[in-house]
Amino acid sequence: MAEPSRDPPSALSADFMSFSPGDTASRWLACADLQQEVYRHLAEYVPRVLCQGGGVAEQREELALQLMLLAPLEWFLLGGEPAAGLPLLRQGGGEALCGHVFKVGEPTYSCRECAADPTCVLCMQCFLASVHRHHRYRMTTSGGGGFCDCGDAEAWKTGPSCQNHTPADRNRETEEDPVSLLPPAVEERSYSIFSIILQYAVDLLTWEQEDQLPAGLEPQQRSDSYYCMLFNDEVHTYEQVIYTLQKAVSCSQKEAVSFATTVDRDGRKSVRFGDHQFCEQAKAVIVRSTSRQSKPLRVQVMHSALVAHQCFALKALSWLGQIIQYSDGLRRILCQVGLRPGPEGENSSLVDRLMLNDSKMWKGARNVYHQLLMNSLLMDRKFKKLFAIRFAKNYRRLQTDFMEDDHDRLVSVTALSVQLFTVPTVARMLMVEENLMMTIIRTFVDQLRHRDAQGRFQFDRYTAQQAFKFGRVQSLIGDLKYVLISPPPQWSQQLRTKFLDGFEAFLDLLRCMQGMDPVVRQVGQHIEMEPEWEAAFTLQMKLTHIITMMQEWCSTDEHVLIEAYKKCLSALSQCQSGLPDGEQPISLSLAGHTVDTFRYQVSQEKVSIHLPVCRLLAGLHVLLSRTEVASRLPEQLPLGDLSPHLLIELPLRCLVLCAQVHAGMWRRNGFSLINQIYYYHNVKCRVEMFDKDLAMLQVGASMMDPNHFLMIVLSRFELFHTFSATDLRRRFREANKDLAQQNTLIEEMLHLIIMVVGERYVPGVGQVEPLDEVRREILHQLCIRPMAHSELVKALPENGNKETGLERVIDSVASFRKPGVTGRGLYELRPEWSKHFDLYFHHYSRADQSKAEEAQRKLRRQNGEDTALPPPRPPPLCPPFASLVNLLQSDALLALEGAVLQWAGEPNGGGWTESMLQRVLHLVAMALLEEQQQLESSGGDEVVSFTFSSKITRPGEAPSTSGSVLALLESLQSAPHLEVHKDMITWILKMVGNIKTTRERTSGSSVSVSHGRRPEETVRDKDKAERKRKAEMARLRREKVMAQMSEMQKHFINENKELFQQSMEELEAAAEHSPPSSEPTCATQICVGPRRVGGAERHQLVTCILCQEEQEVRGHGRAMVLAAFIQRSTVLSKNRRRGILDPERLDPLFMHPDLSVGVHTASCGHIMHATCWRRYFEAVQQKEQRRQQRLRGHTSYDVENGEFLCPLCECLSNTVIPLLPHACSPDRSVEHPCLETWLKRTTQQAAALDSTHRKQSHGAAQQAEPAVPDGFGVGFVPRDVTSTLRNPFSSGVGEMINTFSMSAYKVGLKVNPNEQDPRVPVLSWSTCAYTMQSIERLLMDEKKPLFGSLPCRQDDCLSSLTRFSSACWTAAPIRTVQNHFIRLLSVLVLVPDSQLEDAPCFLDVDMFHLLVYSVLSYSSLHSLDQSGRSSVDSAHLHLLHLVTVAHLVQVLLTSTAGEPSMDQDGEESEEERLTCQLYGRLRDHLGRCLPDVSSGWRLWRCVRAGVLPFLRTAALFFHYMNSASPPADLLGTGPGQWEALCSYLGLPSNLLLLYQNHRTLLEPLIHRWCCHPGVGQVLHGGGVLVRFPRESNRLIDLPEDYSILINQASSFTCPRSGGDKSRAPTLCLVCGCMLCSQSYCCQTEVEGDDVGACTAHTFTCGAGIGLFLRVRESQVLFVAGKTKGCFYPPPYLDDYGETDPGLKRGNPLHLCSERYQKIERLWRQHGIAEVIGHAQEANQTLVAIDWQHL
Ligand SMILES: [Zn+2]
Ligand SMILES: [Zn+2]
Ligand SMILES: [Zn+2]
Ligand SMILES: [Zn+2]
Ligand SMILES: [Zn+2]
Ligand SMILES: [Zn+2]
Ligand SMILES: [Zn+2]
Repeated sequence: MAEPSRDPPSALSADFMSFSPGDTASRWLACADLQQEVYRHLAEYVPRVLCQGGGVAEQREELALQLMLLAPLEWFLLGGEPAAGLPLLRQGGGEALCGHVFKVGEPTYSCRECAADPTCVLCMQCFLASVHRHHRYRMTTSGGGGFCDCGDAEAWKTGPSCQNHTPADRNRETEEDPVSLLPPAVEERSYSIFSIILQYAVDLLTWEQEDQLPAGLEPQQRSDSYYCMLFNDEVHTYEQVIYTLQKAVSCSQKEAVSFATTVDRDGRKSVRFGDHQFCEQAKAVIVRSTSRQSKPLRVQVMHSALVAHQCFALKALSWLGQIIQYSDGLRRILCQVGLRPGPEGENSSLVDRLMLNDSKMWKGARNVYHQLLMNSLLMDRKFKKLFAIRFAKNYRRLQTDFMEDDHDRLVSVTALSVQLFTVPTVARMLMVEENLMMTIIRTFVDQLRHRDAQGRFQFDRYTAQQAFKFGRVQSLIGDLKYVLISPPPQWSQQLRTKFLDGFEAFLDLLRCMQGMDPVVRQVGQHIEMEPEWEAAFTLQMKLTHIITMMQEWCSTDEHVLIEAYKKCLSALSQCQSGLPDGEQPISLSLAGHTVDTFRYQVSQEKVSIHLPVCRLLAGLHVLLSRTEVASRLPEQLPLGDLSPHLLIELPLRCLVLCAQVHAGMWRRNGFSLINQIYYYHNVKCRVEMFDKDLAMLQVGASMMDPNHFLMIVLSRFELFHTFSATDLRRRFREANKDLAQQNTLIEEMLHLIIMVVGERYVPGVGQVEPLDEVRREILHQLCIRPMAHSELVKALPENGNKETGLERVIDSVASFRKPGVTGRGLYELRPEWSKHFDLYFHHYSRADQSKAEEAQRKLRRQNGEDTALPPPRPPPLCPPFASLVNLLQSDALLALEGAVLQWAGEPNGGGWTESMLQRVLHLVAMALLEEQQQLESSGGDEVVSFTFSSKITRPGEAPSTSGSVLALLESLQSAPHLEVHKDMITWILKMVGNIKTTRERTSGSSVSVSHGRRPEETVRDKDKAERKRKAEMARLRREKVMAQMSEMQKHFINENKELFQQSMEELEAAAEHSPPSSEPTCATQICVGPRRVGGAERHQLVTCILCQEEQEVRGHGRAMVLAAFIQRSTVLSKNRRRGILDPERLDPLFMHPDLSVGVHTASCGHIMHATCWRRYFEAVQQKEQRRQQRLRGHTSYDVENGEFLCPLCECLSNTVIPLLPHACSPDRSVEHPCLETWLKRTTQQAAALDSTHRKQSHGAAQQAEPAVPDGFGVGFVPRDVTSTLRNPFSSGVGEMINTFSMSAYKVGLKVNPNEQDPRVPVLSWSTCAYTMQSIERLLMDEKKPLFGSLPCRQDDCLSSLTRFSSACWTAAPIRTVQNHFIRLLSVLVLVPDSQLEDAPCFLDVDMFHLLVYSVLSYSSLHSLDQSGRSSVDSAHLHLLHLVTVAHLVQVLLTSTAGEPSMDQDGEESEEERLTCQLYGRLRDHLGRCLPDVSSGWRLWRCVRAGVLPFLRTAALFFHYMNSASPPADLLGTGPGQWEALCSYLGLPSNLLLLYQNHRTLLEPLIHRWCCHPGVGQVLHGGGVLVRFPRESNRLIDLPEDYSILINQASSFTCPRSGGDKSRAPTLCLVCGCMLCSQSYCCQTEVEGDDVGACTAHTFTCGAGIGLFLRVRESQVLFVAGKTKGCFYPPPYLDDYGETDPGLKRGNPLHLCSERYQKIERLWRQHGIAEVIGHAQEANQTLVAIDWQHL
């Protein structure tokens, strides 16, 4: 970068040698002016040690810093060797406070039962050692900053200290000055040195000049060396900074990224070092190139000595932080030094200076001194309070600075408020002494200066600057919340005064909100611009908890409550003083009552939804009602100028507005209003909005004549004229087109009346406990449907402590149903609670209401009950609200009810609605319930004044002059058009009857009562019985229908088998593979060799899914294909480090036994004509081309790579497998040579061929011609062979063989297609072998039988894949295939005279792959054999024998060591003896390489286990190749598997006989294998030693408790950016590697693209497929290739059976092993790509995510 620096390291080294910190300290001790002496030292050394401009190694700098700068300080402080002195300072006993400062992403724990508030948290260590571990706790990840509250008695209701932080002796709790425990000399020296150092640091960090130093620090010689310092801001993006830097200081992209990262992390970074001019140049370029778009980046050219001193200032602060950890005494001294007032008096202490300069400092400096504050002032009980006072005094200044500061709040000193204000005693002290509450509120109000003419906030014309400020100022509300979070246990007179002062300030704030954002109904045309509404609601939402907390505080002290009420009342009077002015007074009359009011129409005048002052008053009023003041001292509540009429006016307008919006009257006002109405009712706001408006109506109604109240309501609803005379209504109906609108308004109004009388679950309104309210909310949610815990939580309002009270009541009303492998746990309402269901529950939306109604009616029908949904019995009202019930029997309401009932008599009048009627019936029922309840509680002693039942018998007065309400009801009972309401009307009439009898009974004639009840009772019983019978009938009918349906379904499935292959897997597999009785018995069932059975003549008919035609599968017929998906796989890998090296030169012929990368093929099992598929695929291609022209981006499949979705099931596919006919029956006419003869002959043939091939390619380099066996035509291509054997397929089939071969080649090697490449057939064989191995593993691990348990799609896939593989050699040049065979053979047998390059060591070859390849390539050799003396079948058998023996030896060599020795008693079996013998021979060959194992039993057991997977895969292979049905034993998992398997493969069940019977032939072969130099190497640990059986790969083990993972991730640092925390730590589930995902720092280039750490990792770990756990998000991530991915539910659930994506809820999470197994199975079945495909098809937004950058 800069010019080569003068070699500072050597200069430094010289200093190193001569420097003695002890001597320096002694000099200081002796000197007269310590400060001068220390400064002189610093002036000399700091610029030499630190910031030497690029060149110096960090480590060296660190050493020099320690030795020359910090060590002298420590020597001085302790007066001797620090290593000896420091530990002595530690004072006995454990630390009382933990104070662990949280890193970003570290887990924190809060106890929901014991924490004083949610900001009280524990670190993981403390949590695990605390009592709260067994409580209900919440887990979150820290955003950084903040510390563990362990040991803080104020933070916890119980268990404040964990086991590690319990103070040693409780007595020391008493305030004893810790300083007195220090040696006096140390005490004195610490005062002086701390003062000097802290002063020095503060001076430098707040220093504003670029070229000067504070006095005493100027160096003797000034060098011309400068830094160009770049500062961060929140305006410019990473990209802009990187681009600018590359240009300005001409660095590489990598350096620029590193600069940008550091600037972002530390807040500043020097980007150039050199002379002044050199740095100024860079500065000019940076400023110029960033000033165009916005404010330029901040750059300073600073003298290097200044930078060095600033750097040391930070180091010195950290050092102070560490030193004080040794002793509470030192800590306290530092605190004293920090808070000691400076020379300038007020605000001049060092801590004050730091705080007040906070917004001017860069991020790194702030972090360091904040940390020091936390370690010092906040950890000392006494000084925490003193500091809090400083903080509160500076509060307004700090906040104002913060408003202008463009850094996050996290790095602002204002964020410390959480540490101070949440301590209740501190908060109250600050309230009393510093008037904190008022300060906060005033500061807040002052920041929002934009007001309208009435002084209300006005947000609609905010500039960006003001909006930014509005965002910032909200943190003040957070501070207020901390202060108020716990109400005082007792009040002092001072506290009362200050609280009420604060309350008054708060009222001023609310008055600025009262009436803001008013709306006027738009008529004629739509509004032009949606008015701004969000800011006002943001404010409301943020203040919601504050308002509630204010009320809570008030509720704890009667005096405060009354005073607050008065203040609130007077505030409201002021707000409403002008309300009735200018309005026209009118007089309304109805049902014989008259009331005076004024004319006001919501639909024509201004109305606002923001009424916080009214609502606060309503809240306080309800609180008063709970106390006895209200009844004891009613004169204490002077309502002043506010009559009840005025109290209800504004809330009523707001509710009417909602009703009119529902009725569609405000459509032209746009979405802004709809949103406001939505939030008004939303759970986040309703507590302090809708609920309080309702409460205010209840307050007003309880103080008014009910008739007057109703008439005003009618008038505000603009419905008065509708009910004032019924005929008016008729006239109106004819004239008015908006009848529907008016009907809705009537419904809304009736609903409102129901709520005003019926909602009694607020303590103070009704006689209930707070938890009753929560229980009722839950109950009504569960009446809609069973719900998950999180759904319920979302439906309930949270208090300031983020608690809903849900857990405390849920078990009493609901039962929990656990989730399965998918879905989540649900709560279900206990049946006995459904009688508390209230259809008009005030928090139901219309949609909720109708869902709940339907669900409840259904439930009642199922129980054989009637479907009436009468109101539940309400709790009694509190005395001040008792008169509310009179609304129910008021004349006005009766008139309303009469009118509606009368209208309902006309079936199609159109003037009424079902809901209207339903509401009226509900009101009538409520009244009857009330009367009944009053009768019951009076016990007949008093006269019950509630006489609704008699009132409804009176005929209606004007306007409804018809019959009485009762008479109307009776007439409606049998009306056919009211069938749905019949049950309800019946219920009402029965109720009227009941009440009548009760009244008669209480009025004396008790004899007749019991008499009179009986007939009714029997009627009811009869009713019940009838209902039960009907229900039973209905159930039977349902069952019958179900049975019919399932029958039809079965039929349908049989007809459409193709479609249901998957679901039918079990059934089908069993049916198809169970051996038909006609088949020969098991003993003769063999799948390989001349004696094999099966295959041959079976005809195979298949149907094309595209054209629906049937087709027989024939070699010469029309080609049929199977949709398939080929992918590379590392699922079986035993060695993930071995990647594919150079794909162009890789030789895939020998698969290593570590199976590091394989090629897997899967299929959905859907069959098409090749031609139909071609046409389909071309259409897909065209569509894709068209799409790409129109819009860019990806689809879920990559057409360019041949991907498509199966046309039937949309399964991701990228090729097709051709269907080929079954193998022919074995040729029984030819003789079958024995192993020896065959081997001799074959080696001869191979040798001859090899020589011929060589001759052809190298010309006539004549050598001894090897003997050609007779009948073997080298280079002889007989005509008939060409036609039948070489070309047994039609061109169509041949083409498809080519297609699949090419796909396997292309995907397997990741190369471009090349038909000439000799490796083409090898890849086809390879995918066949690998797929079989992976399926065998799955069957084995899931303990399923080898045959008959595979789903059809896999069965079809394997079958067609194997048959294809056995034919694919025909598509390749025959010479190539022959060459492959010769090379394969040479691993086992020496091919004489061949000049092949060295055959690989047989330990480096997977024997199953060898078997498959050699069997499949053998045909190329055989086709030249004209002798007719051998058959392919015997060759297969011999190859199997040879390979099996080789594998036996392989197993014996690799897998016998290290087994625990355990000898078996008893006779040695034949197998054991022979194994011992063979092992002995191997030891002869290899000597000491092999351990001495004498136990034959052990050896045999080892061999048997090791060979088994090989035999099983071989059986699968020959089964599919030869279409041989398996023996019955292999269709199950019973005993006898081994024997059945050997017999099926034509092998002796004593496998050792293979060796024993051909010893003379095999001995030399074994000798040759063992002598390969590779063997010794592998056995000595020189290569990868694979043991058999290969253990199946599993996903990594995950901890049971999720927080362990979070903790792991929080200590994980990005591997690339030196110790930085990673933002998105992500765990690879395959190998357990932790990665730094989704971040610039860890991007790498893979095949030309920049990819994130996850994608890069998949290429080394999973061959392109990856499974990850994003730890911070608690989310599983699947990735395939660079463009595809999806999220998948994590295997962690909380106690309620739910996942927690994003860790938002913070419930403890535990591993659900079933779900993890499901993910593992997906991976092992190679289903990840398919899951991604389906997810992306289902959710198109997934396609747009940049997966490659994760
Ligand atoms: Zn802790
Ligand atoms: Zn602790
Ligand atoms: Zn607890
Ligand atoms: Zn077709
Ligand atoms: Zn399909
Ligand atoms: Zn991995
Ligand atoms: Zn990184």
